[in-house]
Amino acid sequence: MTTVPDRLLLGSGPSPVPRRVLDALAQPTIGHLDPAFAELMEATKAKLRQVMRTANDVTLPLSGTGSVGMEAMVVNFVRPGDRVVCGVHGLFGERMADELARNGAEVVRVEGEWGRALDPARLIDALDERTAALFVVHGETSTGVRQPLDGLAAACREVDALLMVDCVTSLAGAPLSIDDEGVDVAFSGTQKCLNCPPGLAPFTASERALERLEEGTCRSWYLDLTLLLGYWGGDGARAYHHTAPINLVYALDAALDLVLEEGLEARWARHLDAHERLLRELEPRGFARLAPEGEQLAPLLCVRVPEGLDEAAARRALLLEHGIEVSGGLGPLAGQVWRIGVMGEGARPEAQERLLAAIDRVL
Ligand SMILES: *Cc1c(COP(=O)(O)O)cnc(C)c1O
Repeated sequence: MTTVPDRLLLGSGPSPVPRRVLDALAQPTIGHLDPAFAELMEATKAKLRQVMRTANDVTLPLSGTGSVGMEAMVVNFVRPGDRVVCGVHGLFGERMADELARNGAEVVRVEGEWGRALDPARLIDALDERTAALFVVHGETSTGVRQPLDGLAAACREVDALLMVDCVTSLAGAPLSIDDEGVDVAFSGTQKCLNCPPGLAPFTASERALERLEEGTCRSWYLDLTLLLGYWGGDGARAYHHTAPINLVYALDAALDLVLEEGLEARWARHLDAHERLLRELEPRGFARLAPEGEQLAPLLCVRVPEGLDEAAARRALLLEHGIEVSGGLGPLAGQVWRIGVMGEGARPEAQERLLAAIDRVL
């Protein structure tokens, strides 16, 4: 077996995977139609509903990384020609606009500065009677900004549009209640605040959204929810569709247990505390947060690096000499910022002290 180096993952994801999750992953593989696995699927779905704070029956982990959740959202709920308003103020909004355009949607971009949240009023103003959906990135991992959802659900309902959200980085790390905020469709990933290896995309869809599903019309066979529900559905008559990544489901189930044992509110508060504590330590070292106070995304601290620092060389030294991964900037922020993950196990004082000690050696 090839051994991999020891790493402390404090970048934009994957995040540190705790021993309990690794142990769950290493259990023997069983058949995906085994009644024991069916039972696990049901238990995992129930835990996911709790973590997403939703009663949606259709709440399940799709097979694939977070991006598969994005694609499932579009191929199931957006038809060619649909008018979709899309918030773009970072890489992941940009990516969604691309995905929508590839699927034939009429994309109405509401653009904002990278590093700032969008004013919800601007998103609401872009809606009209023809709008099929509004999409926003709740946690923009490219900039460390949390997008407020205030008023969006009510405005969407007025024009009969769906509210669609990317909560890949915010789920289990920043306050989010799918039902209370009126989100119709949301997707996430396992390798951010859930502290699980990558490979599954937690996904949820409301009854309002499901009314739009039509059997036999989805452009993707693999991501057709009407077929997937025959496999993941809770009616006991499971039909083979694809083979779920069985061991990853074990891991996700254990990761959700850890979240629920801690409690969502306590976990959200811990992420924010850890984010603020780390920022207070970094500021005297010459780093400055990109997002203004009130717009920061707790699980991802994006900071401008000190003037004159060769940031790529410093990150390489952190990784190769100290075994710590932090991420660099993307797009227009390349070479200017570090993106430091404050995700789950990465949102603990021990992890951050190791990072600060290593930064002091490297700078
Ligand atoms: C990581 C991430 C994704 C993509 O997830 P993958 O698992 O890399 O496919 C999408 N949106 C946001 C906000 C992310 O942080």
